[in-house]
Amino acid sequence: MLSANVLVLNRYFQLVHVTTVKRALILLFSGKAKAVTDDYRTYDWEEWADIPVQPNDDFISTPSKKVAVPYVVQLLNFEKVKKFELRFSRANIFARDKNRCQYCGRHYSTHRLSIDHVIPQSRGGKSTWENVVCACLKCNVTKSDMTPEEARMPLLKQPTRPVWSPGEKLLRGRPVPRQWKNFLDEAYWNAPLKE
Ligand SMILES: [Zn+2]
Repeated sequence: MLSANVLVLNRYFQLVHVTTVKRALILLFSGKAKAVTDDYRTYDWEEWADIPVQPNDDFISTPSKKVAVPYVVQLLNFEKVKKFELRFSRANIFARDKNRCQYCGRHYSTHRLSIDHVIPQSRGGKSTWENVVCACLKCNVTKSDMTPEEARMPLLKQPTRPVWSPGEKLLRGRPVPRQWKNFLDEAYWNAPLKE
């Protein structure tokens, strides 16, 4: 268990490398990293240790309780981000917006999110990093064919083009735990969208 693989991300949720559970726990415990769940939420050690272990979770036992194994961690101070063009895809848009609806501000699981064109396509809005955001289905329907101003739905922040580090190479040939899925290349989510 302690030698199982853990995905290490930087603070932009970009893949940095793969480490062991043992090493990830040390990072988490020393405050150098946070555990990350599927919906891009992050937890420090205290918060993580407080989450009840679910029946399907792998866990480790501390003297006082069982703690779920963190299969994805985020380094808090990893600055070395090489600037590469990030593929324009659903997964990367959701990752950029951290699965957070950019109108109501709530976090959602991936299947409850959609991509919204800030300036609607019907009004000439383009499919670009600067004109698409992650939106929950309800907000997307409410906003409909309007601009944020017309719909009185201000954006949390103006969308921008993110950068990416080419970490996928690290993963070749490795078994991929289900907990990594959200953060890795997947045919559907990463299919390039027309820009
Ligand atoms: Zn919303």
